Amino acid sequence: MSRAERRWSLGALLLLPGSVRAQAAHPAPSKLEIGEGIYLFQTAPYGDAGLDGNSVVIVTEEGVLVFDSNGTPAAAEAVLAEIRKITPAPIKYLVNSHWHWDHWYGAEVYKKAFPELQVITHERTRQLMAGPAVAFNQPGLDEQLPGHIAQLESQLLRAKVSATPVPGVAGLEAHLARDRWFLQQKRGVKHTLATITFSDSLTIHLGPRTIQVLHHDRAITPGDTYLYLPKEKVLVMGDLLINPITFALFCYPTGWIKTLKALARLDAVVLVPGHGGPLADKALLHATIALLEREQQLAREAKGRGENVDQAKATILADARVLALRTTITGSDARRNDAFALYLVDWFVTRVYQELDGTLDDSIPRTP
Ligand SMILES: [Zn+2]
Repeated sequence: MSRAERRWSLGALLLLPGSVRAQAAHPAPSKLEIGEGIYLFQTAPYGDAGLDGNSVVIVTEEGVLVFDSNGTPAAAEAVLAEIRKITPAPIKYLVNSHWHWDHWYGAEVYKKAFPELQVITHERTRQLMAGPAVAFNQPGLDEQLPGHIAQLESQLLRAKVSATPVPGVAGLEAHLARDRWFLQQKRGVKHTLATITFSDSLTIHLGPRTIQVLHHDRAITPGDTYLYLPKEKVLVMGDLLINPITFALFCYPTGWIKTLKALARLDAVVLVPGHGGPLADKALLHATIALLEREQQLAREAKGRGENVDQAKATILADARVLALRTTITGSDARRNDAFALYLVDWFVTRVYQELDGTLDDSIPRTP
């Protein structure tokens, strides 16, 4: 084959959807029973393109409630397949915690399988899901992810036509197939909105269980929703808390701290974060509250002294109390410390300054 022919055939090969077909399903999620008949499902990440929130499933003989429906239909299908192995009972309720795609883009799967399903979100979350949340994700689907895929394609093409063997071609091919599949999944999502909304609280009586669906204040988003099961003492928090480092991007500092304090007052013995493993005590919750309060206080003082937001971040990252809490939260792991500096200091202090300026509203900011 001439070099030109080889190039052509490789180009044609790259256009074939075979690699997409090869990954039609998402791998089975891991399953953890965190209370009797209460399961935490965690799905595999989408390579470097994203990762799902936790999905919690509460089973009774009369029906099932699912909290958060993953970031793609395929991931939700994988969780639903596991639920069907546990119970023949119908899924009656789906609660979606907030507008971030990784917690609700799989919702259509449950609605399709159970047309009687009631989908529940906070009223502000529904408003955001009905437009702004989808618009927020559009540049990723129109430009960022396709651009990344195009880059991988030319990298792969160069590797294949190279006269000397290039290491890592198989890995590159798998990466490309995964990203193409992910883009196809996200572009095909049928955005499924709530059939029931609430403002403060809603109680569901399902078989022998009492399930409280709660909202306290604007926190990570304007309409964060969490679940509390008072008999089982299980608290399902969504992204209000992530194990180990919560993403403070676009948060509402004062409302978030108030919300976390409300969570801490509940008599929970199992706490499920929005990402990461379940918690058997409130140590991370208390450390995060103490950290955010300390940061808010230091940022207020810094602003009062006339420091700009970057100066305030530097001041806070040098504070002994903040560093002690960082050790509690990250265990001094270097990569986690970097994530801490970005997610819990950079993003949080930016929002504290904006809140002090009075510029926080319910809209989704355009740029991170
Ligand atoms: Zn999330």
